[in-house]
Amino acid sequence: MFSTFKQYVFSGVSRHYKDETNRRIMVVNLFAAVGMSITFLLGCRAFIAAEYPLSTTLFTASVVFAISQRLQVRVPTASARTASITLLILCLMVLTLLLLITGGKDNTGPLWIYLVPPVTMFFAGFVRGLLSLIAFTLVSAIVLFGFDEAILFTQYTYAFKTRLLYSFMTVSFLSAFYEYSRQKSYDTALYLSEQFERQAKHDHLTQLLNRRGAQQCLDREYARIVRNKSKFSIAIADIDRFKSINDSLGHEQGDEVLVQISKVFTTRLRAQDILARWGGEEFMFIFNDTNESDAIEALEQIRETLNGAPLNIKGHEFHVTASFGVSEVTPDIDISTAIRRADKALYYSKDNGRDQVCAISTIDPPSSLTKQSSSL
Ligand code: GH3
Ligand code: MG
Ligand code: MG
Repeated sequence: MFSTFKQYVFSGVSRHYKDETNRRIMVVNLFAAVGMSITFLLGCRAFIAAEYPLSTTLFTASVVFAISQRLQVRVPTASARTASITLLILCLMVLTLLLLITGGKDNTGPLWIYLVPPVTMFFAGFVRGLLSLIAFTLVSAIVLFGFDEAILFTQYTYAFKTRLLYSFMTVSFLSAFYEYSRQKSYDTALYLSEQFERQAKHDHLTQLLNRRGAQQCLDREYARIVRNKSKFSIAIADIDRFKSINDSLGHEQGDEVLVQISKVFTTRLRAQDILARWGGEEFMFIFNDTNESDAIEALEQIRETLNGAPLNIKGHEFHVTASFGVSEVTPDIDISTAIRRADKALYYSKDNGRDQVCAISTIDPPSSLTKQSSSL
């Protein structure tokens, strides 16, 4: 019983939607169920009492509530959800107006009017909700006071009608204010959580992805090549003799050198490639859909660009070089093995005189890759 209810409330919800959309879908499900049940029960009661026009209206409303709920579950598009919400609000407003016109049981019908503002605001949002409520207030005023009360099938005192409209407008104003503040807090919370997520994945100094962000990209790319049985390449770059740069310029200017190097690297990348700050003065390149020889070619250009353009630090030209270690990633070589291989190739570049690109396959030929991967 509880699981059926839970299944009903969650019907139409998807992890691909925003939290706000899912929350709205769940409330539509709940509201449609409540609306459907109440109008159906009241319809049965009116039918038994031989009040056929009233029972027909209530049964129709019950069906409309059901249709609007099924619509958002069956058609998972934004426009279907808007249509479903519009149907719900319209149904509620028309029912309320009919109760206002007829008076309902012992003239208690107008009491239902207070359901309209919170429901409209919640479903339609601040702007559309406010416009709908203004329109509804005008129609209600015409129903109550217009055409010498010819529209009314019942009688209300003048004081009752004015108090009803004033209190309705007060509740509408409060609901609008509540919805406005709720939306504002939601937007702020969303903005902050996006900022935190960005900060957690990015390096504060260079604005590149940090190690954690790079690791996520590597995992995603690895899952993709396993699916497609393809390959990609990674490279680790380490700035040559960076300690002496820090010693001669100071740590602060050393930071500036890192920022400028990251810009030089970024300008040479293709749109599909990813650059991250892997550690202190180490960078990670992820060359998607690229084999080792193409990655080497791209890195040679990057290395030459860094070599050919001195950095400008505090008005002084400064020459910096970097060493690179490359490794191909295939479904047979997992990420951590590939990283260790790129590191090994990098240290080979360093030992070999720095300012160069070295690929793991030149140290460990391809035939020995899978054999040695477990020992690395
Ligand atoms: P090699 O060519 O062998 O790589 O020489 P190196 O001096 O670059 O090598 P090492 O790895 O020993 O030194 C790296 C230096 O980078 C040490 C550390 O103080 C500096 N460093 C690490 N992170 C930062 C940073 O964020 N800012 C600055 N300014 N320096 C950093
Ligand atoms: Mg280093
Ligand atoms: Mg270094």
